[in-house]
Amino acid sequence: MSKNVILPDEKGYFGKFGGNYLPENLKIEFENITQEFLNAKEDEKFNEELNSLLKHYAGRPSPVYYAKNLSEKYGADIYFKREDLNHTGAHKINHSLGEALLAKRMGKTKLIAETGAGQHGVATATAAAIMGLKCDIYMGAVDVVKEKPNVDRMKILGANIISVESGTKTLKEAVDEAFIAYSKEYDTAMYAIGSAVGPHPFPMIIEYFQSVIGREAREQMLELAGTLPDHVVACVGGGSNAIGIFSGFLNDEKVKLYGVEPLGKGVKTGENAASITYGKEGILHGFKCLLLQDENGNPANAYSVASGLDYPGVGPKHCYLKEIGRANYVTITDNEAIDAFYELSHLEGIIPALESSHAVAYALKLAHEKQGEKILVNLSGRGDKDIEFVLSIKE
Ligand SMILES: *Cc1c(COP(=O)(O)O)cnc(C)c1O
Repeated sequence: MSKNVILPDEKGYFGKFGGNYLPENLKIEFENITQEFLNAKEDEKFNEELNSLLKHYAGRPSPVYYAKNLSEKYGADIYFKREDLNHTGAHKINHSLGEALLAKRMGKTKLIAETGAGQHGVATATAAAIMGLKCDIYMGAVDVVKEKPNVDRMKILGANIISVESGTKTLKEAVDEAFIAYSKEYDTAMYAIGSAVGPHPFPMIIEYFQSVIGREAREQMLELAGTLPDHVVACVGGGSNAIGIFSGFLNDEKVKLYGVEPLGKGVKTGENAASITYGKEGILHGFKCLLLQDENGNPANAYSVASGLDYPGVGPKHCYLKEIGRANYVTITDNEAIDAFYELSHLEGIIPALESSHAVAYALKLAHEKQGEKILVNLSGRGDKDIEFVLSIKE
């Protein structure tokens, strides 16, 4: 499939980031997953099955759309890669289908996953349903209440929801609990991580499954605009949608890449989730990355209005791309994202997810500086899930 996916070294490092900090028994299982993935990646039948699902079930290829009204108003040519049009409403279905296929290939009968806002849980429950796998979703008790529509969806899809009562009862604890459960069940279950994070080989696996975004987008830009974009912009939570679109352009040195992190309410610890911008090297959930930390070096609480972005760590490949200067990492506040949410809705009739609105907001800023240039934005998901909340804070 993609020739552009930069693989980590044998131990799973991108530069000094990544790796695999796990107990010995899990290390062996993760080595099995690595081998199985490397075989699957070269297996024509596996790729055919995946591509067929992506096309006939998830609705790929997603279109690239030239946003004429926004372009006229802001003075640069703005294009959107429409991941919001995928089945289940975001890019997450790309890696969930891949992980479920890999689980089946390994003879596993269950998927175990964590979820924050419930988006990854819904995508995993969907993939489990179509593939005939059982599905356990770990979710913080606070999120179970807050994200009721997604909890209901997962239940309808046949997943088992485990409400996590420890700590702040949100995403970080959900990951901890899911991991403990997985370490007892890995003979029959597969962990289905929700972003380009976690111990090796998951960042590599997720990038591979998400690279379809960049591969399609590159071809579509050549077809639609007759040239590559000058700039590619994507929001960064753990980094899966961003690494997916970046991977299509990594070898095109003239194409500038921008990962947009959530600045939330401000620069203080606890007010944002901008891990690359404000994080320091540290280890979280079994891998090394730039990590938001409190004064004692513990993982800090992360915050963003977009719950899909509020993770204190970030994928190791992004830390590496930042270090070698191949990608730029910038920030957008809650308020800027909400303004962009309305701007895209009013001018183009597309309601974006609050996560994706961060990328849109940065693209509009960039347009001011780069008049006449071509900006491609990854629209990672649709905003149906955010409507009630946005209306509650601003009329
Ligand atoms: C989960 C999510 C994100 C953040 O995850 P990444 O792994 O950084 O892509 C972004 N956009 C949407 C719509 C999401 O659901």
